[in-house]
Amino acid sequence: ALQCGIVGLPNVGKSTLFNCLSNAKAQSANFPFCTIDPNVGVISVPDERLIKLSEIDHPQRVIPATVEIVDIAGLVKGASKGEGLGNKFLANIRETDAIIHVLRCFDDDNVVHVDGSVNPVRDKEIIDAELQLKDLETVENRLNKVQKQAQTGGDKMAKKLVDILLQYKEVLEQGKPARIVKLNNKEEEQLAADLFLLTNKPVLYVCNVDENSALSGNPYVGQVKEAIKDEGADLLLLAAKTESEIAELEEYEERQLFLQEIGLEESGVVRLIKAAYHLLDLQTYFTTGADESRAWTFHRGQKAPQCAGIIHTDFEKGFIRAEVIKYEDYVRFGSETACREAGKIAIEGKEYIVQDGDILHFRFNV
Ligand code: GDP
Repeated sequence: ALQCGIVGLPNVGKSTLFNCLSNAKAQSANFPFCTIDPNVGVISVPDERLIKLSEIDHPQRVIPATVEIVDIAGLVKGASKGEGLGNKFLANIRETDAIIHVLRCFDDDNVVHVDGSVNPVRDKEIIDAELQLKDLETVENRLNKVQKQAQTGGDKMAKKLVDILLQYKEVLEQGKPARIVKLNNKEEEQLAADLFLLTNKPVLYVCNVDENSALSGNPYVGQVKEAIKDEGADLLLLAAKTESEIAELEEYEERQLFLQEIGLEESGVVRLIKAAYHLLDLQTYFTTGADESRAWTFHRGQKAPQCAGIIHTDFEKGFIRAEVIKYEDYVRFGSETACREAGKIAIEGKEYIVQDGDILHFRFNV
């Protein structure tokens, strides 16, 4: 499953956020290191289209797409040198597909800051530096090994890899993330992906603000925006504590009312999940009928047989064709039969690149 890791310094609101994401009411105390083991939550991806499909088909089951969220607590200054269980946390990050970086943008004298004052840009730089140092270590270790191969064997791939590693070394030494290195082709991308660099993962910054700043932000948020403007990363405003209070409310209507009171239409948690999905470059196709309406997650650009394989490997092996209905057509005509009569079912082969919102029916040999 695809995984987003929540990182940030202690006491910035990671567990609070994680708790409202997972609805599991794990404890969050005003004390650094309160969450030592990474918590994994499986989160449903909110999708209005799936709801609409289920209203049309009245299936027995409705199954949303999911993303896994891991709360990676305890990153502190010195983590790359193994401080404060640092290496363990860095290993947790290595396993994730994307990073949600939480920054404390709220004042509260009751919540201790590990560095004595609220300063999200400094906090961000501390975490970034640890990730960069770890990556630099990885890159230098690989360089030591691969440079020999490249010299002695005249190995073409080794030479390419050395080239890439040197580029990474340069940006990391400048205190920049590996993700800013532009690669030229799929081959280079694969070589780079095999390095599993921490700073090569896509990142979403979450500014954790107070209730009153949930809509318009505050000066801290402005500072963060300025600091990340060249990174091409997304930024999300979220009031974690308020959201966790909202999550406690039993009734959906109550929760919506609370949101409206602070000027929001959609909860920050919903926005975060959607952003995470986007961050991972994921798209959704659907299968729907009397049994089940279901959202399936695939990577942008995947072809029909691979997408069939997400349901079952046999579907990929025996793939013959896909019958494709556009979501809008399905909603407009109201059923597969009606779409067929209206000529709105396309027959697609092995090379078809599945599009977000496609409703698919696979034909395959067994
Ligand atoms: P973590 O160490 O990053 O996981 O931080 P926690 O989620 O445990 O939060 C640390 C403390 O800050 C807790 O007492 C939270 O209630 C509090 N907190 C979290 N988010 C906010 C916020 O947006 N505003 C305020 N005032 N307090 C918050």
